[in-house]
Amino acid sequence: MLVNIKDLDLTELEEWLISQGMPRYRGVQIFQWIHKHRVRSYDRMTNLPKGLREDLKAEAPLFWPRVIQEQVSAVDGTQKLLLELEDGERIETVLIPHKYGNSICVSSQVGCALACSFCATGISGFKRNLTVAEMVDQVLSFAEPVSSIVMMGMGEPLLNLENVLKFLAIIHNEHGFGIGYRHMTISTAGIPPGIRRLADTGLPITLAISLHAPNDRLRSELMPINKKYPISSVLDAADYYAAQTGRRYTLEYVLIDDVNDRAELARELVRLAKGRLCHVNLIPLNTMAEKNFERSRDKKVETFSKVLESGGIPVTVRREMGSDIDAACGQLRSRMEVEALGEE
Ligand code: SAH
Repeated sequence: MLVNIKDLDLTELEEWLISQGMPRYRGVQIFQWIHKHRVRSYDRMTNLPKGLREDLKAEAPLFWPRVIQEQVSAVDGTQKLLLELEDGERIETVLIPHKYGNSICVSSQVGCALACSFCATGISGFKRNLTVAEMVDQVLSFAEPVSSIVMMGMGEPLLNLENVLKFLAIIHNEHGFGIGYRHMTISTAGIPPGIRRLADTGLPITLAISLHAPNDRLRSELMPINKKYPISSVLDAADYYAAQTGRRYTLEYVLIDDVNDRAELARELVRLAKGRLCHVNLIPLNTMAEKNFERSRDKKVETFSKVLESGGIPVTVRREMGSDIDAACGQLRSRMEVEALGEE
């Protein structure tokens, strides 16, 4: 059976090589070529004997997703790629330049089943989970150095957790990107079993919870998943994560004009966050044509943030990146869908 070596962590790669009658130490060499030197063909792996390269071509052919479209923000240098996968599905991935280095915003699924009311990805539903290789390919699709990974692209990472964890382990490996788990963030709409599973790995991955409302009535309106997993169950799991890892988690709160940005809701959020090892990240909504939500006025964002601050809750306001190329949070979706919507 053909193997995709980008699906394999280093140990699996070594085991596979041994099963093919090749020496174990070739594993590190191949892993380095792919993940450190980012070469795209076995022929460029010059420390491998020719015969081995031919065997690899036959047994583990390399597939690279096609870059259908590439956009660079004139405002802040954010890059967005539309990639076509082996089965023709399309996903987006984003590189965000920061002072401290580049962050890649990785998609974990084609589409999403959760249908949050303010998010573009949910519009056309869930197609499938991404494979480990398809997440690795997103990072390898950029030529730039990478210093952090955020699982904030399309999809719900905790509903594809085994693949996400393996992908992060590959990116963590010292023979590849060598990125520390502290520089990796998993953002979730709130799946308690997944949060607990993540906590039990003991890995110091940064956890971000998409809260967006301080009470179940409003949150269920914005995020249908809240009917299955209400706020208390999500925060219990997040507290368990904090206890297991000793790490503060983030409560993400998208501010939508006249929907969830009243000062009274900020006070409710203070009561909810008080005493928990967390901080709040306020995200002014990124608007899109298909939804009639508007972003909160700057004044409201400021007031909301002040209420949290004076309530003793650490708070930051997320700077918007890539808005001119629809690469901002929650705006990812395939080009095909955008065009289809334009035709209606
Ligand atoms: N499914 C995961 C990760 C993907 S979304 C999650 O829900 O967390 C990454 C972040 O972008 C989440 O906090 C999500 O709520 C937020 N987001 C979604 N749509 C947005 C929009 N239109 N404007 C700003 N943020 C948005």
